[in-house]
Order: sequence, then structure tokens, then C-alpha cells
Amino acid sequence: MTYSNDKLSVVLASRNKGKIREINVMLSSVLPGISVKGLDEYPEIGHIQETGSTFAENALIKARTVCEKTGLVSLADDSGLVVPALNGQPGVHSARFAGEKATDEENNAKLLKAMEKFAGNMRKAVFICVLAAVAPGGRELVVEGEWQGLIALHPKGANGFGYDPLFFDPELKLHSAEMDPDQKNMRSHRARALKKLAAAWKEFAG
Ligand code: IMP
Repeated sequence: MTYSNDKLSVVLASRNKGKIREINVMLSSVLPGISVKGLDEYPEIGHIQETGSTFAENALIKARTVCEKTGLVSLADDSGLVVPALNGQPGVHSARFAGEKATDEENNAKLLKAMEKFAGNMRKAVFICVLAAVAPGGRELVVEGEWQGLIALHPKGANGFGYDPLFFDPELKLHSAEMDPDQKNMRSHRARALKKLAAAWKEFAG
């Protein structure tokens, strides 16, 4: 069996409709014929615990579980914000930095407080996205995309989600939350990981 992208359905290990749509649009523009289904179509697959200590471990845990349960090529992403001055925090805990059920505002407030003592280059941060693809039979592909920036002194902008109001892109001189979706999707960590996935797909799909 081969996994060429001709009319291939790939299962994305996510129930987040926005993320499924975003990955569908980006992936089908680089790999025509591919269609991405979300986990909503597989209610029998319950919540998958992200027990890894790295983005790659978590993406692989999710993609392997979904591949095992569906028998289909599966794709998973794991992403977050890494701040070197905070020893890599919030990292894999980005969604729950300020607590298990924390809101984006609470996570941003905690980050701003933790950054109070840092100025200039010490405010560097990087968004990371790891995408893992797993095919029945065990073939695996892992790619990573990065987006370098700085943690701003104040939040700005109303677009996006998560840490977008605090993440400042020094090249565009804009906070991520000030960018329109197309602008963000051209430069984001997810876009860069998806481009790498597309470039490596032919060899992976066989
Ligand atoms: P997940 O990979 O969807 O679980 O994302 C983990 C967390 O990382 C999110 O809840 C956000 O806090 C943060 N994050 C990941 N990507 C972005 C982004 O593009 N903008 C802002 N925050 C992000």
C-alpha cells in the first residue's frame, strides 16, 4: 500500500475546528488532493493525554494513537511558546501556564509578570510547532517550524489567540495579534512546519 497524496484522507489528531480548517487550507495548497479530517469524525477516540516532555514527543503520542485506532495516515501537531530567559517556559505547558483551566488572558498576565526583570534581547521568544505524521506499518515523519520574536512590554491587537497579543515580530514590527490571518499564516511556526512537511511528504508517502 502506498500513501501518495492522490485523494488521500489524513486524520488530524485534533477537535479544534479552527486548527483543522487552517491545516486543511495550508496542506491542500501545497499537497493537492489531500483532505484533512478531524477527530470529531472519530468520537470513539477519547481524549489523548499529552504526557511527553517535548513538543515532538507529544505530537508523536497523538499521531501514533490516532493511526493505531483508525488504520489511516495520521497527523498531529504540538506547539507553544519558548522563552530562553525563563529556561524554556512556558514550553509544552503553554496552554496551561497559569493553571490547568487558565484563560489566554491569565497566561499572558503570568508571562508579562515573569518577564518584568528582563529587557532587550533577554525578551527573545520563539513559537515552535512540531508536526508528526505516522502511517500504518510504522513509518514516521517529524518536522519543526519556528517563529522568532520578542515578548512585548504590553499586549496589543485583537486577532489570533494564545500569546499573540504579546508576541512581537521585529521584522514586521507588529504584534502577532495585529496581523491579519493571511499575514500570520505566511510567517507562523505552523506555516513553516507545514512547508517542511509538504517538502518531505513524497518520500514519507512513498
Ligand atoms: P496547541 O499546540 O494547540 O496545544 O497550543 C498550545 C498553546 O501554545 C496554545 O494554547 C497557545 O497558548 C500557544 N500557542 C501555540 N501556537 C500559538 C500561536 O500561533 N499564537 C499564540 N499562541 C500560540
